[in-house]
This record gives sequence, structure tokens and C-alpha cells, in this order.
Amino acid sequence: MELELLGTGTSHGIPVISCTCDVCTSVDSRDKRLRASALIRLDNGMTILIDSGPEFRIQALRAGLSRLDTVLFTHSHADHTHGLDDVRIFTHTQDMPIYAEQRCAQEIRERFAYIFHRTQEGGGKPHIKLISIEAESAAQGEANAYYPPPIDIGGMQIIPIPAMHGSIPVLGWRIGDTAYLTDCSAIPEASLDRLKGLTNLVIGALRERPHSTHFSFSQAVSVIHRIGPQHAWFTHICHDFSHQGIIDWLDTNHPGKKIEPAYDGLRITIR
Ligand SMILES: [Zn+2]
Ligand SMILES: [Zn+2]
Ligand SMILES: [Zn+2]
Repeated sequence: MELELLGTGTSHGIPVISCTCDVCTSVDSRDKRLRASALIRLDNGMTILIDSGPEFRIQALRAGLSRLDTVLFTHSHADHTHGLDDVRIFTHTQDMPIYAEQRCAQEIRERFAYIFHRTQEGGGKPHIKLISIEAESAAQGEANAYYPPPIDIGGMQIIPIPAMHGSIPVLGWRIGDTAYLTDCSAIPEASLDRLKGLTNLVIGALRERPHSTHFSFSQAVSVIHRIGPQHAWFTHICHDFSHQGIIDWLDTNHPGKKIEPAYDGLRITIR
């Protein structure tokens, strides 16, 4: 199995429209970051998309996507959802199941209301079955919180990992020895338990300056140390640092640790 990072940029992407900074004008291909999204390829040929950002169409073409079985959402922010319409090419023969934390599911229903209304025959729209996952109390780390059970996709157990992104609940996703958690600023204790024994962790790390809804590089490194994966990658990166600049920052501040910035197109083997 494999996780492919389709996009590793923050909500603006890199380059940022109209920005002339060194990172936005860099010629290093790793400094071109589409909005954050990932693809899981199972050994049985099934494919699972994590977030359908505004560049989903471009990402699907780049990745040679010929099949899509389901979408798992992390949360409803525009940079993670606004390409949802383009999954419709994969929904001609049957409704596609789509999983989202319940607040996210409600926002998807409102924002993409046309998908859920009866419309005239021939009107192109995705045919989806939106499945809402209760996880808010778990994301907030409440005692006796309800922890959502794993989802079975093609015989694989995909585990929702509740976390907080500022004041909103989000979901990370774990499959086998690999977890993907973008856009978060706190991970409750019980979710850290669900992240034990990881080989690979992809985690949102916006920049080094603090931010109210995202881990900074230093905060992400602390979380990585607590979780203890064999290898970790930063994603959802903004234009404060170039790709090489992050490598240098990690070498200086956390030498010898297996942490790297991710880049668009990175493929990670899942076991
Ligand atoms: Zn985001
Ligand atoms: Zn810039
Ligand atoms: Zn967000």
C-alpha cells in the first residue's frame, strides 16, 4: 500500500498569488505546493482520497488517478473541500461513500447543497453518500468521549484520529503503520494512544512563527517526539521557509531526527 501526497501547501498554496518572496519565486520544484491532500492506494487496487481541495482535478491528473472509491475528509475548510465536485467522474455507476466528522459533514451539505437536492436529469453532479462521524467530544479530549470506530474500506481498517484545529474538531486518519494529520493545533491523549507504533507520520507544520490553529515547526517536533514514529514529514507548509530552508532548520534544531518536509508527489510505503 502507498500514501501519495498530492499537495503539501497551506491554504494559499505556494506560490501565493501576487507574492514575490524568495520561496514563491524559487526555482526548486519542491517549493511548488498545491493545497494539502493525500491519496491512499490499497494493494487490491482501491484508492482513497483524503480531502478534495480546490486543485483536486490537477492533482488527480498528475497522479494518473483512474479509480476512486471513497473520500475521507479531515475538516471543511475551503482548501480541503472545494474540489469535491470533480469526484463526479468516479460516481457514474454508484454513489461514492464519503466520510466526515459531523460538523464537517453538515458544512459540506450546506456548501454543496446542489449535490443533495433533486435536480434535472443530465445535470452533472457527484453522486455521493455522505457519512457523518461523531468525534467532537473525543477531539476536545473530554472524559468518557465517544471514540469513532475504524472504517472498513476494502477489508482495510482506517482509523479516525480526532484532533483540534484551533476551536474546531478535525480528523486525522491512520491506516496500518501510517497516519496523516494535517491542520491541527492539539491532539488529545486518547488520540495519541491511537498513534502508537507508527512507522510513518505526516503532520501539519505551518511555519516556525506561532499560529492559533496550526502547529508550528517546534510544536510539531514535540508532538512527533511524543508519538515516536520511525519517520515523520511536515505538510501544510506556508511560504515562510523554502523546502531546503526547512531541512536546514531541522538539521540545526533537531539534528539526527528522521523528520523532513514533505513535497508534492512524495510517496510513502504503508505496511
Ligand atoms: Zn488547511
Ligand atoms: Zn511568498
Ligand atoms: Zn484548516
